[in-house]
Parts: sequence; C-alpha cells; structure tokens
Amino acid sequence: MPATPPTLPHEAEAFAASLLSWYRENYRPLPWREQPSLYRTVVSELMCQQTQIATALPYFARWMAQLPDFEALANASEETVVKLWEGLGYYSRARNLHKLAKQWVAADPKPQSAAEWRAYPGVGPYTAAAIASITFGEKSAVVDGNVVRILARLTNDQREFSNGGKAVKSFTTLADLLIEYATHAGDHNQAMMELGATVCTKANPQCLLCPVRTFCSVNRAGDPAQLPRIAKKQVIQRRVDRVFLVNDGCLLLHQIPTTARRLAGMCELPPAELLETTYPAELIMTRRRGIANERIEERFLSVNWTRDLEKLVGAEATLFWQPLDELDDVTLTGPHRKWLAELFKQCL
Ligand code: SF4
Repeated sequence: MPATPPTLPHEAEAFAASLLSWYRENYRPLPWREQPSLYRTVVSELMCQQTQIATALPYFARWMAQLPDFEALANASEETVVKLWEGLGYYSRARNLHKLAKQWVAADPKPQSAAEWRAYPGVGPYTAAAIASITFGEKSAVVDGNVVRILARLTNDQREFSNGGKAVKSFTTLADLLIEYATHAGDHNQAMMELGATVCTKANPQCLLCPVRTFCSVNRAGDPAQLPRIAKKQVIQRRVDRVFLVNDGCLLLHQIPTTARRLAGMCELPPAELLETTYPAELIMTRRRGIANERIEERFLSVNWTRDLEKLVGAEATLFWQPLDELDDVTLTGPHRKWLAELFKQCL
C-alpha cells in the first residue's frame, strides 16, 4: 500500500524546518532585513501594509534619512511626516506612525508583546505579530492574504469565504499552530510572507520550486490558482469632474477636510461641484484611479476665470491658490501630482 501522504498540521515540525532553511538561503535582501531594528521593522510594516515592497523601498530610504528613529519621528511636524509619505496613498498610516512614535517615546516600560503593540495606533493583529516576532521572537503568527493563500492551498481548503477578513480569522488557528514548531518565530513569519510574495503567488504559483511542496495537498490533488475561494468585492464605478484653473501664476487647489475618511488633509484639483460649474468648460483630459473597491473616472475641465468664479472661490474655505513655483510645498495625492505634470505639459 502506498504511504499516506503527509498532511498538515501533522507534519508541522518538518514543514517549519523546510520553510526556514529555504528562507535563509533565498530571502530578498531588504533594507529592514539587512540592518534590522525595532524602529525599522515598525516603519517597514506600516509602509508595506497596502503598498508593494518595490514601491515602498525609495520611500523607506528617504524616511530613514530624515527620520532615523522614534525620537526624530515623534518630534517631526505632521506636515513633514505626511509630505514624506506623499504618493504612497492611505495617508492615515503616516499619521498613525507619527502618533505611534509619540506614544512609544512616552511609554515606560516599552511595549514588547503583540498584545502590547495592539494598543498602538495603526497596529492591527498582523502588524503586532510581525513586530513582536521579528524583534522579540514571540511566537505570534502573521496572517494576511498571502498567508491565507498558502494555508488554503497546503490544506486544499475548498470552503468559500464571504470576505478576506473571515478567511484570515479561519486560518489563524493553523498559522498559530505552525509557528509553535518554528525555531525562530520572526524568520518563520517572514518566510511565510516571502513564500506568498515570490513562490505561492496568486496566479501561476511556482510549485516545482516550492520548498514545502511535499506538504501541499493542492499540489498533489488540484489546481492551486483557484484557491483560496473568497467572494469578490463588488466594484463601484464613479465619475468626478475637476477644474484645472491657473490664474496669475497660481493654481487653484482643494484641500480635503481633515475629518474626511480618505486622503484627509491632502490636496487635489478641485471637484467641479465646489465651483458649481455651469460655466463653459472644456474637457482636456480623462484619467482613472482605484481606491479600495471604487473605480473612479476623473475628468479634468478647463474653465475661464471670471468675477463670479472669484466669488465662489472666496466663499469655499477648502479652496486656495498655490503659486506654480511652490507646488512642491503642498502635499498632493499621488495620482494628482502625476496628472498635474501631464496637464501642465498639455496646457501651459
Ligand atoms: S506547492 Fe504550490 S500551491 Fe503548494 S504551497 Fe507551494 S507554491 Fe503554493
């Protein structure tokens, strides 16, 4: 009779050992791995929450050059912090990092465990587990979309989850069990992240190169790419008209209120509705952006400067004129910084 194939979690110790030895030979030499410290781990974890590593790398270098430790960050102005984040999106992460540094500097004793880190702004279960395991060796498993994907495939789990959060919750027990067998919790967690990012990828997983393929049920019995089964979020389509208006060497901008749920305090070209534009307007450019599950079409309109418009601008507190040669001083959202360069090229 053929031997029963090994299945998780029964083979947890051998699985953890295979994963670790693969990671130690194959990990990407990222700056926060090459010169690890608590601060660098915290910054990298928050920066990479919704951003790909390749995108985050230049931001991380710039951040470390200007704000090298918790004290420097705690003492920086919010303006400096948000400006350093410009273009990365999800700006609440920058503000949370700023608050976190202030809280850490004031804390006595300093936080170590994942449970203690959870009390810090912007630190959810994943980030807390990453910090506590990488810096303090705590056996606390990280579970995100990457880890869910690996575990669903390893166990050939065909359940359908209504959203990613439910899948994370469901696989946390197995992730916690596996890390118990790890000889180095921080490297185990990083190895799981690395495996998900480079080998067990969403499409086209590299099963032939996978260090844990002998433990993988779907590799033996099915199609890895169709797991995990998570219901797709409904996509919402929206359209926003915006005004591109330059007058007397200044550009009209709109600051998003600091109470807004998204992009609070950032600047963009003004939505046309703020100016009640029933004026003749010329469509000069159309671009698209995605924020969470929204797909937004942004149309840029050129309008002529008139007295009526002047009154409307004066009455709207979120609108202001920014000199063209001082545009670098305001914090624009990433897409608008890019699109403005295109508009200037096209229109000025
Ligand atoms: S064998 Fe394939 S599906 Fe299984 S964990 Fe490795 S890469 Fe993923």
